Amino acid sequence: MTGPRIDLRSDTVTTPTERMRRAMHEAVVGDDVYAEDPTVSELQREAADLLGFEAGLFMPSGTMTNQVAIAVHTQRGQEVICPEGSHIYEWELGMMATFSGVVPRFVPAPRGVPDPDDVRRAIRRSIHQSPSGMISLEDTHNKAGGTVLPLEVLAGVRDVAEQEGLPLHLDGARMMNAAAAQGVRPSDIARHFHSVSLCLSKGLGAPVGSVLLGSRDFIGAAHRYRKMMGGGMRQAGILAAAGLIALREGPALLQEDHRRARELAVTLKEAGYDVDLETVQTNMIYATLPDAQTRVNAWAARGLLASALDHDRVRFVLHHQITDDLLAHAQDIIRS
Ligand SMILES: *Cc1c(COP(=O)(O)O)cnc(C)c1O
Repeated sequence: MTGPRIDLRSDTVTTPTERMRRAMHEAVVGDDVYAEDPTVSELQREAADLLGFEAGLFMPSGTMTNQVAIAVHTQRGQEVICPEGSHIYEWELGMMATFSGVVPRFVPAPRGVPDPDDVRRAIRRSIHQSPSGMISLEDTHNKAGGTVLPLEVLAGVRDVAEQEGLPLHLDGARMMNAAAAQGVRPSDIARHFHSVSLCLSKGLGAPVGSVLLGSRDFIGAAHRYRKMMGGGMRQAGILAAAGLIALREGPALLQEDHRRARELAVTLKEAGYDVDLETVQTNMIYATLPDAQTRVNAWAARGLLASALDHDRVRFVLHHQITDDLLAHAQDIIRS
């Protein structure tokens, strides 16, 4: 391998910035299982205020925040209505079944966007069927390409949830990307939901952590499930300190990631790869090609890392540690 390593496998691969490391070094900490870590409390407060919720709860991962939300919202034997390709099913290892005893019911989601009428039609009440327990959306929708859900769709699904008396959760791992892409406040997205899971360790750049947001009662119940899952962390302020920097400084960097994703997508397209540019709305690009793994291996040998997610799909994800220089290198490798 010659030249720099350009890691576009995910936006989780960022390493903590100098400011994060300094904040971690200086963090005031306590035992967070006793709710005595001031830095964790500050992060939870700040995330809740930013998204317009009463309370927040810091956890090690987005899988845990999602699965704790499902555990609180549902009862065994129920269904979780979610768009096809949802992370809560595709990439969370069957945890909704093993931990909460619930199963998914998918609604169609072209380019990640479900139709609120399809969500309504998916709701079940009959004695012969598993009843609907909750609805969960994903914004941005990862498997559909990092696509953004229009605010009208969020409002439409919220109306369905309200009329049907179902809790509505957002897997908002990358909701800050959705807010940046639409030029809206994060709370303009979050206000439609009863609970939101937000990842600090994706594009926002923190080394570890996600926050679950909701009402005081919801978060009270979530505490118990977090502990059951092994997510009760002690002097977690060390991590929350970096999370605070990510929350405060990360969102401003996302638009540049989106611009670079767009430029790389165009390069891929010009090099003959099958990319649906309409889906390149935030920091991700999916290209469809035969034998994805072989292509990914060939790029990796030259320092460009991407993910072969299916046998015929490759994903590239931009993040703040990919500079314009590194992007230019990546483009050279793809062109040659
Ligand atoms: C990354 C991600 C998560 C959480 O994943 P973890 O690896 O558990 O932090 C949840 N939802 C979506 C859409 C994601 O991309």
